[in-house]
Amino acid sequence: MSLYDAVVIGGGPAGLTAALYLVRSGCRVALVEKLTAGGQILQTEAIENYPGFPKGIKGWELADLFAAHVEDIPLDRFSDAVNAMESGPDGHRVRVGETWLETKTVILCSGARYRHLGLANEKELTGRGVSYCAICDGNFFRGQTVAVVGGGNTALEESLYLAKLVGKLHLVHRRDAFRGAKIYQDRVMGMPEKIDIIRSSVVAAIHGVDKLEGVTLRSVTTGEERFLPVDGLFVFVGMEPNGEFFPEALQRDPQGFVITDTEMRTNVPGIFAAGDIRSKMCRQVTTAVGDGATAAQAAFVYLEHLNA
Ligand SMILES: Cc1cc2nc3c(=O)[nH]c(=O)nc-3n(C[C@H](O)[C@H](O)[C@H](O)COP(=O)(O)OP(=O)(O)OC[C@H]3O[C@@H](n4cnc5c(N)ncnc54)[C@H](O)[C@@H]3O)c2cc1C
Repeated sequence: MSLYDAVVIGGGPAGLTAALYLVRSGCRVALVEKLTAGGQILQTEAIENYPGFPKGIKGWELADLFAAHVEDIPLDRFSDAVNAMESGPDGHRVRVGETWLETKTVILCSGARYRHLGLANEKELTGRGVSYCAICDGNFFRGQTVAVVGGGNTALEESLYLAKLVGKLHLVHRRDAFRGAKIYQDRVMGMPEKIDIIRSSVVAAIHGVDKLEGVTLRSVTTGEERFLPVDGLFVFVGMEPNGEFFPEALQRDPQGFVITDTEMRTNVPGIFAAGDIRSKMCRQVTTAVGDGATAAQAAFVYLEHLNA
């Protein structure tokens, strides 16, 4: 069995960048991606905030460009899911399907997924009115009417961000009181002309064929339902890390995201994490590629010490 300098888990923006930097540093690298290279950007219609593309770029086009950049470099690729990891004094083992890969370092770049409402039509209308990212998609709804679902800090903060762009925002929360910080609650409640707060209600159905047309709201107290016409629906009911295979010893935050220092080192020597899988504030393509480059450089320095 061959020994890798680094196994990069995940072929999204963070993983592709980490692999590119590591190979260019002369390392022997394996890249494991269970689906298609590109990660979450494949789920979005257009990306307008990645520098270098002033007119924006389709999500799949950017994913193709990222993938093309590593196409001809010497990289062992595995198209399967990592399902287990083990660490010992001599290094790490990563199981891909039924095969174990031995490696001196691991770069965790397995990303995250937005929690969905789980309603019919939700998947089909994602990118056509349904969104999970205000920074990414808010600009598409300038002057329009949107609904925001959620009651935590993210829902309140994102509502404040969106309120500057949209014409009208309906904030739908299943409880009577918000969980988010008081300062955000005060700000949200201080904008009654822009933000309409709909408490004790849930989105019960999403309507539209090629484009979102509206949602059905249901009161959790009376069960009464009504149709709310909206151009956009922003869902902020949490994010989940793709970390089912992580070793027990790996330190994580209460939501399960990996804790690193500024050089992307985790608490386990030789394991680094980059991109959305990290515990951090801003989950974007720009920060994912930055993390990927930093993790690669930190892993390279670690390998130099190991080999000294
Ligand atoms: C709908 C939508 C719109 C967005 N719009 C924007 C935008 O406009 N601008 C912006 O900057 N950001 C946007 N984002 C966020 C951006 O896509 C992410 O921040 C970025 O993709 C994170 O990159 P990553 O490499 O850390 O993780 P990901 O992109 O999540 O990639 C992780 C990869 O790991 C793979 N993987 C997971 N588990 C395993 C496993 N066990 N084994 C092997 N492979 C595995 C996954 O298949 C995936 O390809 C958007 C996200 C979404 C969902």
